[in-house]
Amino acid sequence: MIHLTGIRKSYQVGKNKLEVLKGIDLDIADGDLVSIMGSSGSGKSTLLNIIGILDSYNEGEYKLDGKLIENLSEKEAAVYRNKFIGFVFQSFHLISYKTALENVALPLYYQGVGRKKRNAIAAEYLEKVGLGDRMDHLPNELSGGQKQRVMISMAMSCEPSVLIADEPTTALDVTVQKTILELMQELQREKDMGILFITHDLGVVAELADYVVVMYKGKVVEQGTVWEIFS
Ligand code: ADP
Ligand code: MG
Repeated sequence: MIHLTGIRKSYQVGKNKLEVLKGIDLDIADGDLVSIMGSSGSGKSTLLNIIGILDSYNEGEYKLDGKLIENLSEKEAAVYRNKFIGFVFQSFHLISYKTALENVALPLYYQGVGRKKRNAIAAEYLEKVGLGDRMDHLPNELSGGQKQRVMISMAMSCEPSVLIADEPTTALDVTVQKTILELMQELQREKDMGILFITHDLGVVAELADYVVVMYKGKVVEQGTVWEIFS
C-alpha cells in the first residue's frame, strides 16, 4: 500500500539547510499495524505528514496504492487523502462552532454521504470512543482528552485504507487510552485498515504493533517485528 524509497526532506532555516529526513526506505502492506518510535526531533511527524500527503518531499519516491505521490495539485492531493488516508493530529483541528457530531460527520459530507447516513455513522463512532453523551457539545465544552477522542472518531468514521495517528493517546488517561487502542486494533482486523502510529509508550507497542520502525536523526535505524526489535 505504501512504498517509500530514498525519501529526503530538508528545510531552509535562514542560510542553513536543515536535513530532517535523510533517505527513508519503508514498505507498509495493507492492514499492517505499524508503530514509529524515536526521540523527539528525529523526523517522525515529518514522515507521517508526507505519508498523509500533507507535506511534500525533496527527493526520492512515494507511492500510495501504486500511484506516485509527487507534485500533486491541492485538488488531486485532497482526492487521494479522502480516498485513502485518515489522520489523527497531535493538535486539535476541530471546528469551534460545530458540535462533536457535526465535526465527525464533516469528512463524510465531503465524501458525498447523505445527512442521515453520515450522522448515523458519526454517532456510531462517537459511541465507540465513549462520547455517546457528548455528541451535541461544542469543542469548547469538551476537555482536551474528549476533543482528542472526537478527532479519533472523525478519522476512523471514514474507514480509510490507512489511519495515521501522531501520538494519538498522549492527551488521554490510561483507561481511555486502552479503549482507543483496542478500537484501533478492532478496526484493523475487521476492516483490514492499515494503521501507522507514533507513540512513546513501549507497553502499547508491545501489545499492539505488528511492526516497529525506529527513527534517529532523520533515518530509520531499525525496523522489524516487535519480537525482532525488543529481543
Ligand atoms: P518528531 O516528530 O520526531 O519529534 P519532527 O518531524 O516534528 O520530529 O521534526 C524533525 C526536525 O525538523 C526537528 O528538528 C524540527 O525542529 C524540524 N522541523 C520540523 N518542521 C519544521 C519547519 N517547518 N521548519 C524548520 N524545521 C522544521
Ligand atoms: Mg512529532
